[in-house]
Amino acid sequence: MLGIKAVFLDRDGTLSMDVGYPRFWSDFKPFPWTLSALKILLNKGYQLFLITNQSGIARGYFTLSEARQLNRLILEYFNTEGINFTDYRMCPHHPKGLVPEFTLDCDCRKPKPGMILQLAQRYGIALSQSYMVGDKITDIQAGKAAGTQIALLTCHSIEEYQKRKQAGFSPKTEEERLEILREFGEKPAPLAENEFFSLLEFAQSVPG
Ligand SMILES: [Mg+2]
Ligand SMILES: [Zn+2]
Repeated sequence: MLGIKAVFLDRDGTLSMDVGYPRFWSDFKPFPWTLSALKILLNKGYQLFLITNQSGIARGYFTLSEARQLNRLILEYFNTEGINFTDYRMCPHHPKGLVPEFTLDCDCRKPKPGMILQLAQRYGIALSQSYMVGDKITDIQAGKAAGTQIALLTCHSIEEYQKRKQAGFSPKTEEERLEILREFGEKPAPLAENEFFSLLEFAQSVPG
């Protein structure tokens, strides 16, 4: 294989609960399975990269340095648990922001593949052997555009996890499914095969 294999991970809603524009360390609420899932991925030989849209910066909800600080704390937390992320990229932009510096139609905001492609070039990543994992269709679109394999996670909260666990892990709602099918109408099957309830199921299923 040419190049390293990587898992590109969305942050909010994938590693932690999506609390809506998290700003402080206290807003970071990792899922109960996050550490085990990341360890499995590392043991299977994947390098980990964090890929996050933080339009809260462009929208003026928090500053670039606050967002960088939160990323630093999150990666340090993983590090103390023996989980090393090779690198990360954050998009601070939004086309309709309030902060002029960050208000633009950039190439890095998912669904665009800019962050993945930058990292792939820098680290020599074999994209076809790698995965983009996230909880939104835009994560999947970014992965497809970059040429990675994709995995869509359907669990957005611990409450939802408990609820769906009791119900026997039902898949996404019909409405969510239809939205995905509209997006990838020509190839619905591969996407369905790459749908997982949480990062843990993905980590367990991915080839080593
Ligand atoms: Mg997300
Ligand atoms: Zn951007």
